[in-house]
Amino acid sequence: MQRNPYEMFKQQIDEAAPFLKIDQEYFDILKEPKEVLELSLPVRLDDGSVKMFKAWRSHFNNALGPYKGGIRYHVQVNRDEVIALSGWMTIKCAVVRLPLGGAKGGISCNPAELSTGELEKLTRAYALGVSRFIGTDYDIPAPDVNTNAQTMAWIADTYEKVKGFSEPSVITGKPIEVGGSLGRGTATAQGGVFILREALKELGLHGKDLTCAIQGYGNAGSFVHQLLQGMGLKVVAVSDSKGAIYNPNGLSYDKVKEHKLRTRSVVGFPGSETISGEDLLRVDVDVLIPAALEGMITESNANDIKAKVMLELANGPTTPEAEAILSDKGVLILPDVLANAGGVIVSYFEWVQGRTGDYWSEKMVQERLEERIVQSFHDIWAIKNNYKIRMRQAAYVQAIGRIASAMRFRGIWP
Ligand code: GLU
Repeated sequence: MQRNPYEMFKQQIDEAAPFLKIDQEYFDILKEPKEVLELSLPVRLDDGSVKMFKAWRSHFNNALGPYKGGIRYHVQVNRDEVIALSGWMTIKCAVVRLPLGGAKGGISCNPAELSTGELEKLTRAYALGVSRFIGTDYDIPAPDVNTNAQTMAWIADTYEKVKGFSEPSVITGKPIEVGGSLGRGTATAQGGVFILREALKELGLHGKDLTCAIQGYGNAGSFVHQLLQGMGLKVVAVSDSKGAIYNPNGLSYDKVKEHKLRTRSVVGFPGSETISGEDLLRVDVDVLIPAALEGMITESNANDIKAKVMLELANGPTTPEAEAILSDKGVLILPDVLANAGGVIVSYFEWVQGRTGDYWSEKMVQERLEERIVQSFHDIWAIKNNYKIRMRQAAYVQAIGRIASAMRFRGIWP
């Protein structure tokens, strides 16, 4: 049975609570979204029929600044998932000290079944529906699972047509031509690689011949393959929704990517052995990188994991039960709210660039990303050592402390 991600989120808040000296009321507030918009979107398909789609946008908390978070297209999207993801965004932005709150949106759909024209209509219907619920100083959406720069361009265009003027910072993850930031496409993977590098240094493993397995081959999973390869790490197994591939001698990023583009899956890649998605978790590697969906690492597979380090590029990939098992085994989990924060950090840079009209070089984006995320890693690492707790607990301690402090200054009103 899939764990409800919203329940998981609330449990993670509770697991940090004993290490924070703040009133219970702040925890109560931090377990509920402020407001959730639910939409029913009719879309005329290419065959002339009309199909209804359910969609949401959750505003979780804005004590630190405007709501911020991506939009996901997936059959599994539902209200509780969107709320959980908006809660994780709230924690994430606070962990890396962004002046932003947390939000998330999603449409329950299977994008692989829709033509480009249908996807555009669905996206514009969603953008119109949320147009009174988003804004540069209010709520700033971005890409997430199965959405990309093209999706963001349609949303920005729809929003700007509704408003009648240009407002590039209402959305991030846009194409460069529409006011996007250099480095945004690879930012989630790049941030994860900085975090992994720092963790390996702390563990005395940096520079060693290490092997990795990556679950999920979307934006985060595929780019992290490329970056790890560039760092000299060997990626021996990768998976997508259709299955997994394994080669103990390593998988070449360029060739796997080309195969995936051509066949729509990594499965069947020449020279690799096809294994199941579950088998990928059992491969004997040093680093395991969940980069797919939430709730994938559970109490039923945690015992089989052999990795020493887990880098969570997905949001919520590990259930609290699995986390307890893995920690007992001595696995270091680099939690989502830190490990995948590179995406929203560069989104924040894009927001700043759009507001000032001053667009940065790729080098500047990279340097500022590295500085911010590396600093955040060391802050959390120190809290972990200080309290002798897990990295996720340390990240939540840091984030909840910051958010609660902002809420205290603001006051509970209304
Ligand atoms: N969807 C990404 C995440 O989960 C990025 C969000 C953003 O850039 O606002 O962190």
